[in-house]
Amino acid sequence: MKFGGTSVEDPAAIGRTAAIVAGRVALGKQPVVVVSAMAKVTDQLLRAAAAAAAGDRTGALAISSRLRCRHRDTAVALVKNPTDLAALLQFIDGKFDSLDEVLRGLAAILELTPRISDLIVSFGERISSKIVTAAFREQGIDAAHVDAREVIITDSQFQKAVPQDAPIEKRAAEKLKPLTDAKQVPVMGGFIASNEAGITTTLGRGGSDFTGALVGGAMSAESIEIWTDVDGIMTSDPRVCPDALRVKVISFEEAAELAYFGAKVLHPATILPAVKKNIPVLVLNSRNAACEGTRITSLAPPCKSPFKSIAVKKKLSIIDVVASRMLMTHGYMKSIFDIFDKHQCPVDMVSTSEVSVSLTVDSNDKLPAIAADLGKLADVKYEGRKALVCMVGDDIRGRSGMAAQVFTAIKHVNVRMISQGASEINMSFMIDEDDADEAVRSLHAAFFQDPDPAIFDVEARKAVVSEQ
Ligand code: ASP
Ligand code: MG
Repeated sequence: MKFGGTSVEDPAAIGRTAAIVAGRVALGKQPVVVVSAMAKVTDQLLRAAAAAAAGDRTGALAISSRLRCRHRDTAVALVKNPTDLAALLQFIDGKFDSLDEVLRGLAAILELTPRISDLIVSFGERISSKIVTAAFREQGIDAAHVDAREVIITDSQFQKAVPQDAPIEKRAAEKLKPLTDAKQVPVMGGFIASNEAGITTTLGRGGSDFTGALVGGAMSAESIEIWTDVDGIMTSDPRVCPDALRVKVISFEEAAELAYFGAKVLHPATILPAVKKNIPVLVLNSRNAACEGTRITSLAPPCKSPFKSIAVKKKLSIIDVVASRMLMTHGYMKSIFDIFDKHQCPVDMVSTSEVSVSLTVDSNDKLPAIAADLGKLADVKYEGRKALVCMVGDDIRGRSGMAAQVFTAIKHVNVRMISQGASEINMSFMIDEDDADEAVRSLHAAFFQDPDPAIFDVEARKAVVSEQ
């Protein structure tokens, strides 16, 4: 069971989380609990690090001091037993004292390395997991804290360390299994890890889901539950499309297509360890625990309608590169991509014709420089305020007439670029940003009029607020 930042953001949230875990224990389950830092703490730790590295020692220590108060207050609200509370407060103070040491050192050295950054952000999960353990014990759950850095072993690529399967399996067997066997509930931080030498690393932002999947995989769990603050994956953004529906079940591949589109629910790449082992992943809402969420499975379930979800990404730009003489010349594409590489600008979608190449990128301030470099090869124009609409569904494989249906539904909209993904489960196209909301509502009306009750929650057509 992995609980994200909003599920441990304050005493009330931690209380709900404890009740959810107690419910699983009462069912005879043996959960392992992975928690994020309290909401926004990782961002604030990074801000403190940046301030210190810029020489703003006072600013950095002020952020740390506010965080110290927030964690102490949370502990006081949750833990009533005086001995337990005293021990917890001592732990919290000890950790913040160490953090302050690091920040002072950083303010003297003025250089923030990835390794120091990982050390600084690790305090978020190290402290939240201790508080949650104490809160669970207070609620009568036999919880035991485990330092995630002793279980999740990675290489030494700080800030995006790569987990090492074999040592993680070994550590899980040594450190977690004896606890679950003894009917205890291990509680550990997500996101943080260490290399073989014991130096703290992290799995990258949002990495707690990854920890959840790694632990679930290593323990061969029955299921992996990702507890967040939305009901699951929706057919489209409920803020744009009020009759959006919860998707009850979706394939890993489909969820992966959606992840790119700010479907902030979870990053499917991070649940790969679970998918490889065929462990189902459930996305659940800790604010609405009764809702059955979204189940992510390795194979797509059969669905009567072609699409599962419509996602949109805004703030994109289209770059058109036109060079009639050169397109088919050997090495031409490479020279175009080399320019994007030089500016470290990722390209999302590409489409070519005999004389032109169109590419889409996130709108960014490097575009004029990129265009200037491209201008040395060919004629270039670029245009911002574009949106990418992506229709995802396993049933578009092998169905005919899908494109006709999609573009009929939005026949009043000017489509700038079209791509059907190699994965055959998405159909994407670029339109003007101003047309995007309207287009999504039209498409939703066309394709989710009569939703398959096996796949979509037709009963509760209710709005949810996204995590971000
Ligand atoms: N606390 C980390 C972050 O904010 C990891 C996570 O919450 O998944 O990125
Ligand atoms: Mg997250």
